[in-house]
Amino acid sequence: MSRPYPWQHEQWQAMRQRIAAGRLPHALQLGGPAGVGKFDFARLLAHALLCEQPAADTGLPCDTCRGCQLLAAGTHPDFRLVQPEEEGKEITIGQIRDLLTWQALTPQYGRSRIVIIEPADRMNANASNALLKTLEEPGRDALLLLVTARPAALLPTIRSRCQQLSFGAQPGAAALAWLEQQLGDAPRAALALAVTGGAPLRALALAGGDGMERRAQLFADFEALLEQRQEPVALAAQWLALPLQETLATLHGWHVDMARIKAAAADVVLDNPDLQERLQALSERVDLAELVRGQERLLETMRLARGHPNAQLLLEELLLGWSGGSGKAPRRAATTR
Ligand SMILES: [Zn+2]
Repeated sequence: MSRPYPWQHEQWQAMRQRIAAGRLPHALQLGGPAGVGKFDFARLLAHALLCEQPAADTGLPCDTCRGCQLLAAGTHPDFRLVQPEEEGKEITIGQIRDLLTWQALTPQYGRSRIVIIEPADRMNANASNALLKTLEEPGRDALLLLVTARPAALLPTIRSRCQQLSFGAQPGAAALAWLEQQLGDAPRAALALAVTGGAPLRALALAGGDGMERRAQLFADFEALLEQRQEPVALAAQWLALPLQETLATLHGWHVDMARIKAAAADVVLDNPDLQERLQALSERVDLAELVRGQERLLETMRLARGHPNAQLLLEELLLGWSGGSGKAPRRAATTR
């Protein structure tokens, strides 16, 4: 992608103006929900800054110069991407120390050295403290881009040294038109965008693969659990095969909608409009306090699952909490954190 997504023009213009005025900060935090394209935007910004002849009218990279070719090949000497070495792992102090050594060198080609850390909230405490030192004494020609869906998980001292660039949820027309074009199916696009709370890239991943079919099966399972037709430990074993964070986010969305149904009038607008009647029926089995507790439990499980989880145990605890209808899970130490 060598252009911003259609819903990112405002952020792109803001960056162009800062580049033109020579007012780019040393550190920029790109925050917003998962699936709205923050990481792609960060890469585009790095790309434009390393391009030797960006377009005069748009500031977009040319895709043909030496800088663009080196970046595309993954060998540009003035660019680094720092991510966890394995899915679900932390970003370590070793990775940040390597980065600082590299950053101290002079830029090879361009004006600046550019670093993207993604997701920045996966830096552990030692890594964060090491990074903080460089933020306190920034090199003249460095740009650090911190991409995160959970800004609150960053050290406050890091956040306070970054300028903020915010990306919100995108339930609007620009995102919907883009998604329709990607999927070639307008009703499916509209439903996927609603279900993901306006996160177009998550919607594409969901509706472009078999995510919507997985969701339908998950809902049938969830109904069976709440109606006590399904045994929680056996179901937890089945759900182990599903993408855990997606499953938890989907369940959370249903809880939010059930709480809306209970709290609001008849014309309530749901994120899961296709499930309205079935959510209504389920919501009659639980009270509002239980739904709120369920949401809290899901958020806590999402947090625990980012560490080094025993996924089966996490899921069992979660499902046992619903199956009794009490909304209370037995507390056990689920992880080593
Ligand atoms: Zn170029």
